[in-house]
Amino acid sequence: MTLSTDQMIELEIRVQDEITRLKNDIESSGEDRKAIAPDRAIGRISRLDSMLDQQMAMNSHQRRQERLALLENTIRKMDYGTYGTCERCGREIAFERLKEIPETRHCRSCG
Ligand SMILES: [Zn+2]
Repeated sequence: MTLSTDQMIELEIRVQDEITRLKNDIESSGEDRKAIAPDRAIGRISRLDSMLDQQMAMNSHQRRQERLALLENTIRKMDYGTYGTCERCGREIAFERLKEIPETRHCRSCG
């Protein structure tokens, strides 16, 4: 079963939307990632708290970047016409699975 044009468009819109959303998130979280001012008068405990917050913000920033790269790669595959094929076994990935995880590179059995 090959994806129909309608299905392909539906998936591409979803991926594009997700890319736009992630880019906005990354942009708006830029402020949070600025280093903690060294001269900030805070106690040891609250400094640890801010460092932890910063660490968490960086982790989620990294996750967003990784997902963004994956989604942009998905758009490229759509352009090349290689989208929807499992990169492990070469079989076509079911539309239901692509709808759940549009950026997936593997079919359900290769998961
Ligand atoms: Zn597979």
